[in-house]
Amino acid sequence: MTFDNVPGRSTLGPDQPPPNVSATPSVVRSLRTHSGRAVPFSVEFNPPRDAAGEARLWRAVRQFERMHPAFVSMTYGAGGSTADRTVRITGELAEETTLLPVAHLTAVGHSLAELRSLMGGYADCGIRNILVLRGDPPGDPLGEWHKHPEGVEYAEELVRIVRDLGDFHVGVASFPQGHHRSPDLESDTRFLVSKLRAGAEYSITQMFFDVDHYLRLRDRVAACDPVEALKPIIPELMPITSLRTVARAEELSGRSLPESVLARLRRAAGDGPEEDRAAVRETGIEIATEMGERLIAEGAPCLHFITLNFAKATGEVLANLGYGVTAAPISA
Ligand code: FAD
Repeated sequence: MTFDNVPGRSTLGPDQPPPNVSATPSVVRSLRTHSGRAVPFSVEFNPPRDAAGEARLWRAVRQFERMHPAFVSMTYGAGGSTADRTVRITGELAEETTLLPVAHLTAVGHSLAELRSLMGGYADCGIRNILVLRGDPPGDPLGEWHKHPEGVEYAEELVRIVRDLGDFHVGVASFPQGHHRSPDLESDTRFLVSKLRAGAEYSITQMFFDVDHYLRLRDRVAACDPVEALKPIIPELMPITSLRTVARAEELSGRSLPESVLARLRRAAGDGPEEDRAAVRETGIEIATEMGERLIAEGAPCLHFITLNFAKATGEVLANLGYGVTAAPISA
C-alpha cells in the first residue's frame, strides 16, 4: 500500500497546526484519575487478519468495556500490510467505544512521509496516545535490522518526531531482561532513559514471568536517572492458557520462560498423549494472578495484559485479584 496519498487522510507536516485532539486524556492522566481501584489495568489487542478475527476482537472489546480498563492498546504489524485496517479499527475504538485507545507506531519499513501519513490518520480519528516503537524486521524478529533509507534508526528519534507533530502523548517499550539487541543491561537502560528524556511519558515493558526482572529494571532506571524514573513503567502480563500460548509468549518476547514456570505448566499438562488443557489453563491463570498480586504489592502503576483478543483469561485473573469484574460472554 502507499501512504502518501491515502484519500481522506491528513499527512502531518512540521508546518501544520497540531491536531485538535486535546479533549482526549493521556495515558498518564488516565492512570492518575482512574477511580474505583488502587491499581488500574489495561489491555493489548492485535489487528485481526480477517472478518472472523474482527468479530472476535469486537466481542472482546465489548467485554473489556464493562471492566473499565485505564486504556487499551492496538499493536501494529510489521510490513504495513494491515496498516489501513489497524488505523481504521483503532479509530473505531476511539469513536465507538468508551475506551481510551493507544496506537502502536513502528518505524520498521516506513519512510518519514509514511509515518507522518499514519499519524495524520490517527489524529483524524481523535487518537492522541501513541506507543512509539522501532519494530522488528518483518518475518524474522531476530533478523538483521535495516533502517528505511528515509526513515529512522531508533525509537528515540521517532519519539521526538511524534512529539513535534502535534498534541500527542507518547509511550515507549522497556525490557526487563534487556532488549535482545542491547550489548548489556547498562546500555539498555541508558537507551530507555534517552527515550524518556526525548519526551516519552511512560513505558510498557515486554512481557515477563519473573517479577524480579521488572523490579530490577525499575531499580536500574532509578539509578540512571531518578527524575525519569518517576514516569510509570507499566508491567506487561500474559496469562498462559495452553502450551501453545507458551510458544507464543516465547516468540513474542524472544525469551524463554523461567524453568520454574515451565515446570509448573508441564506438571499441569501431565504425561498423557494430550495435554490436560484445563489444568494448564488453571495453572497459567494462577501464575498470572500471583504475578499481579506481587506487582500490586510492589507499587506497579498499572497491569497491562496481552489478550490475543480474548477477554476470558484476563477477566479471570482480574477477578482473582479482586477487581470485581466479570468476563461473561456478551450475547451477539
Ligand atoms: P529502540 O528503542 O530503538 O531500540 C532498538 C535497539 O537499539 C535496542 O537494542 C536498543 O537497546 C538499541 N538502541 C536504542 N537507542 C540506541 C542508540 N542511541 N545507540 C545504539 N543503540 C541503541 N513490535 C511491532 O512490530 N509492533 C508492535 O505493535 C509492537 N508492540 C510492542 C509493545 C511493547 C510493550 C513492547 C515491549 C514491544 C513491542 N514491539 C512491537 C516489539 C518492538 O518493536 C521490538 O522489540 C523492537 O526490536 C525494539 O523496539 P524499541 O522501540 O524498543 O526500539
